[in-house]
Order: sequence, then C-alpha cells, then structure tokens
Amino acid sequence: MFPDIGKKPFMKTMKIYVDIDETICYYDGERKYELAKPLINNIEKINKLYDEGNEIVYWTSRGYVSKINYYEITKKSLDAWKCKYHKLIVGEKPNYDLLICDRTKRIEEI
Ligand SMILES: [Mg+2]
Repeated sequence: MFPDIGKKPFMKTMKIYVDIDETICYYDGERKYELAKPLINNIEKINKLYDEGNEIVYWTSRGYVSKINYYEITKKSLDAWKCKYHKLIVGEKPNYDLLICDRTKRIEEI
C-alpha cells in the first residue's frame, strides 16, 4: 500500500517542501525573478498549512544551473508576499522537467 499523504491518522504534522515559481508566483512576461507576481490564493494555502503546525520549507532551483545566488531576492519576495515558512532553500533543488513521486501534490489539489 502506498502512502496517502494527509490521510494518515497518526501523522499530525508534516515536513512540506513547496516549490516557488509557477506554484506561489507567476510571470506576466519576462521571467525575471524580481518581476515575479504572487499567487495570493496559493500562498494562503501554504500559510494555512504553516498555521496548522506543519514545517514549511520553500525550495527552488533558481540558480541551480547558472550557480547565481538568488537567495536574497527570493527571500525578499517571500517576505513581501507575507509567506510563512521555516526554511528557504535556493539553488539546491535540481531542475527537472517532470517529477514522478508517490509523495507529491499539485497546489491545485490542496
Ligand atoms: Mg515551479
């Protein structure tokens, strides 16, 4: 039997890794990180998970390939958007085209 995230009665809180681009923010045109616009409804979903006691780790592959450090600009955005989180990891998440995993949810499913 595969794990069914969120339905385990013994699992009171979870460590949740949350993607940033196209998950809690989007771009109208040019994909420059300083021009990212917040997806307020999605941020509120994550903030609710935080308020419920879950550990929230935002992580992004920004800079994974270029090796440019985007930590400060990313943190500035999260703080401006009132994102609640415990940790921010920038540039360590691999950049992939598709994630196949038994422990994932799209933000639309939350
Ligand atoms: Mg993304």
